[in-house]
Amino acid sequence: MGAPPDLDCLACGACCRQGSDGRILVPAEDLARWRAIGRDDLADSLVPGHFGELAFPYRADGSCVHLGTPDGAHACSIYADRGTTCREFEAGSRQCLEFRREAGVDPPRER
Ligand code: SF4
Ligand code: SF4
Repeated sequence: MGAPPDLDCLACGACCRQGSDGRILVPAEDLARWRAIGRDDLADSLVPGHFGELAFPYRADGSCVHLGTPDGAHACSIYADRGTTCREFEAGSRQCLEFRREAGVDPPRER
């Protein structure tokens, strides 16, 4: 096994485009954290997700509504406060590489 590939999430965002049908789940601990820091808007915007849990709202193309900033189409607009699922998703994991292939990110594209 070689070293993990050098992946640039800011040139990708593929995992943030998997949100259709409420697939990017948000655990209860995130709601408590957001309410404690005054981000009730994030907690109140969630939609029904898989397995009876809550999930990030998504656009018609399946992308998370928080994807994209003035600085980059693949950046997270709530990065500092993003969800636990987002924090724990591992760049270079099998699922990450699968998402990248499906999204046509590999081979690398321009930002
Ligand atoms: S799919 Fe992988 S490389 Fe792309 S943004 Fe998500 S974690 Fe980063
Ligand atoms: S909250 Fe940010 S990191 Fe999480 S799925 Fe949405 S855009 Fe991606």
